[in-house]
Amino acid sequence: MDHIDIVVIGAGVVGLAIASEIASKDRDMYLLEREQTYGQGTSSRNSEVIHAGIYYPKDSLKAELCVEANPMIYEICERHKVPYKRCGKIIVANGEAEVKQLEGIIKHARDIGARDLELIDADRVHMLEPNVKADAAIHSPTTGILDAHGLMDHFHREARRKAGSDPLVLDTEVTGIKQTKGGYVVSMVSGGEAFQVEAEMVINSAGLYADRVAAMTGIDIDEAGYRIHWSKGEYFSLTGKPPALMLVYPPPPLDAVSLGIHSVPDLTGRLRFGPNAFYVDEINYAVESEKMPFWSDVVKYFPSVKPEDLHPDMTGIRAKLQGPGDPVRDFVIRHEEDRGLPGVINLVGIESPGLTCSPAIAEIVAGMVGEILG
Ligand SMILES: Cc1cc2nc3c(=O)[nH]c(=O)nc-3n(C[C@H](O)[C@H](O)[C@H](O)COP(=O)(O)OP(=O)(O)OC[C@H]3O[C@@H](n4cnc5c(N)ncnc54)[C@H](O)[C@@H]3O)c2cc1C
Repeated sequence: MDHIDIVVIGAGVVGLAIASEIASKDRDMYLLEREQTYGQGTSSRNSEVIHAGIYYPKDSLKAELCVEANPMIYEICERHKVPYKRCGKIIVANGEAEVKQLEGIIKHARDIGARDLELIDADRVHMLEPNVKADAAIHSPTTGILDAHGLMDHFHREARRKAGSDPLVLDTEVTGIKQTKGGYVVSMVSGGEAFQVEAEMVINSAGLYADRVAAMTGIDIDEAGYRIHWSKGEYFSLTGKPPALMLVYPPPPLDAVSLGIHSVPDLTGRLRFGPNAFYVDEINYAVESEKMPFWSDVVKYFPSVKPEDLHPDMTGIRAKLQGPGDPVRDFVIRHEEDRGLPGVINLVGIESPGLTCSPAIAEIVAGMVGEILG
């Protein structure tokens, strides 16, 4: 059996960012991914928005890491030629109640450190985006969009460069983790064959399956609060000329399960609307919803959009820690030493803004790895 220093499970944007941060010629590391290539999970099924950190609860990792990672992402994109656009975002309000809601949102966002936000009136909205109907808006110039695959390619290149070889092992599903005297025996099925490797550290960044991987180490995921609830988000795309170049959001619905149906431009100039949010029991990426509920949300701020302009597009699934009706939960990024599992780091519930936060999450994990391996 091979003995190595670190096994990272899951090559989505988070596992890749971690691998790029901790890779070194002095450490043996495998980054295990069960699919045929990296980034096939949630990391390739999202809005690709570089969030500014507006809505997340005060003192949460989501808020802290998003505010920290926003400029990090722009710097990575700039330095390593990852395609991006600092297109900006407006959260638009129509009617007195929504305008009042904006005041609460901007106060909260400034309180948690979001940068450069401005409350603007209908004339300013009209100057920025003439096709948008709004009585007022919050303008966030530091929100943008990026090529998520470009970012993952960059992290993969960095991991290879720092390790001196490629740590990524594809078509390899982790099926068991057993504690031994020297660390953990990780069982896997690779290319149809069973293998085992012994590792001093195991980092679980398995996205939608991170609770199942945590359970392999013997953790009771209900007691630990690690059970993941899958929440599906669907998008409809728009045919014809996009009515706006910025991201346009309504104020978030009060149920806090999503940010509301918003417009999401991509780097090719296409526009999508979404995502909605509903809990599901299986991973099935088909669009199931009708377009009319989407259209009735969208037409409130884009009056020119017609139902026939909308077409079912893609879906993604969120790894939420809160179930239906539960209060919002934070990311879990935890060294499980106090559970008798020294060297095991679990990352559970890395839902939005996990793409934006990926380099900051990787720095936290690198700090833990430094303490564990010295
Ligand atoms: C609809 C939607 C919109 C979103 N929009 C945004 C946004 O605009 N901005 C933003 O910042 N964030 C957004 N997010 C969140 C963001 O996409 C996620 O936080 C991020 O992609 C999570 O990355 P990950 O690496 O943790 O998970 P994943 O990308 O799912 O990667 C986990 C990997 O682990 C692998 N794996 C699982 N189990 C095993 C196993 N047993 N053995 C080996 N491999 C395994 C999987 O195959 C997968 O590749 C959105 C999410 C959704 C669903």
